[in-house]
Amino acid sequence: MAAISPSIRNFVFERANHCCEYCKTSRRVIGMPLVIDHVIPMSNGGTHDPANLCASCYRCNEHKGSKTQVFDNETNVMVTLFNPRVDRWLEHFIWGDGGTHIIGLTAIGRVSVIGLRLNNPYVVESRSLWVARGWHPPLESP
Ligand SMILES: [Zn+2]
Repeated sequence: MAAISPSIRNFVFERANHCCEYCKTSRRVIGMPLVIDHVIPMSNGGTHDPANLCASCYRCNEHKGSKTQVFDNETNVMVTLFNPRVDRWLEHFIWGDGGTHIIGLTAIGRVSVIGLRLNNPYVVESRSLWVARGWHPPLESP
């Protein structure tokens, strides 16, 4: 399949306000570009359609890999990861500890926090610095 066109890449990043659509990290504070994530991985039949694309930081994209589901220990079933094109962030997550931690509110939120390691120690350390500067958490989380 052909590469994602520059215009579609720009559209996806603008649509996300240049923040990772999973962990809400802004490109502006991490000093590196975001990447395009296929919500449904190409290996599972996902396409380059913008309806299947989201902006992601390297960390979330790597931890997501080709996963689409993660086992939820509370309900003992496989649960689909957060889908930024379908799910609303605020319905599934809330910021904890003043903005340094992401807490899953639903099964989708819980498995996404675990599966994407949204509270890995490196990002939590960075978030504490961003919070101290008033750069984080983002004001709106669509
Ligand atoms: Zn991220």
